[in-house]
Amino acid sequence: MKTAKVSLLLLYTGGTIGMIEDPVTGALKPFRFDNILEEVPELNKFGFNLSSYAFDPPIDSADMKPEVWIKMADVIESNYSRFDGFIILHGTDTMAYSASALSFMLENLQKPVIFTGSQLPLGSLRTDGKENIISSVEIAAAINNGKPAIPEVGIFFENKLYRGNRTSKNNVEDFNAFISGNYPPLAESGVHIRFNYSAVRYPEKDMPLAVHKNLDSRIALLKLFPGLNQQVVEAVIQARELRALVIETFGAGNAPSDDWFIETMKDAVHRGIIVVNITQCPIGGVSMGAYETSRRLADAGITGGSDMTLEAAVTKLMFLLGRYSDRHIIEELMKKSLRGEITG
Ligand code: ASP
Repeated sequence: MKTAKVSLLLLYTGGTIGMIEDPVTGALKPFRFDNILEEVPELNKFGFNLSSYAFDPPIDSADMKPEVWIKMADVIESNYSRFDGFIILHGTDTMAYSASALSFMLENLQKPVIFTGSQLPLGSLRTDGKENIISSVEIAAAINNGKPAIPEVGIFFENKLYRGNRTSKNNVEDFNAFISGNYPPLAESGVHIRFNYSAVRYPEKDMPLAVHKNLDSRIALLKLFPGLNQQVVEAVIQARELRALVIETFGAGNAPSDDWFIETMKDAVHRGIIVVNITQCPIGGVSMGAYETSRRLADAGITGGSDMTLEAAVTKLMFLLGRYSDRHIIEELMKKSLRGEITG
């Protein structure tokens, strides 16, 4: 019996991986990247059907926006039945946000969507881009019990595949640029690619892909620091249109116990703003009530974000705010795992 060739779509969105130096300024800028197979001819050796699609113009991922996530989701949706998996080439700066956003937007995903990029452009001699693309392709093509080994949105970088919504960029220098502080790698590449099958989320039911494209970004982020100014915090919560506020607190979810801070948070909740508490620490999570300083936040009506990354919390809010108007539903769902983004 002849088995069908694996078909994968490589979507190039921009980022260092496809950048060149501007001859005048020396700054890195995106270049047109229509045929990646010419750049990485090694990919042909897999014998897969590889197609590519490039965004025009490619963007530095610092320019990432929900509109571009919708474009990515559109490409996946309209090609979903034609391909066995998707590799998204993306700048590292906001890759964790994009991977988190796509994980929420693509409900019932049963095929791999692997983000990767590089710290050095593909054109540079010591580039990390080639290896990252080659391993991502191999992972996207991998099968376990006749089904895709990774039916998830992941980020592959250096030698690890992480769940996208568990990942943050934490290094601008090393090839090892990402961290997944609260969840183990889904796969590791060495001499072989070793899959950590027990960590992978496999769909419980065979449901059709549902793509959610309504995202609401009326969110603010407040990172706490000793000396935070009352007027500034009050100005943030008074912003017109604000629907949700993420507070990045200390340690296990602690905030200053000053009355003005607690009162301002209460006021925000009273105005209908959803306030979510996540920690500044890359490992571990918020445990509301462990200390007096976080118990007061719980009493003020703030929702604990447990061990979610900032990227997951922000994009999950965008997704939920776009889907539901009832704040209680959103607050409940923020505490639950929808795509494996939270330990609960
Ligand atoms: N500024 C670049 C970007 O995120 C950095 C990179 O690709 O690593 O698009």
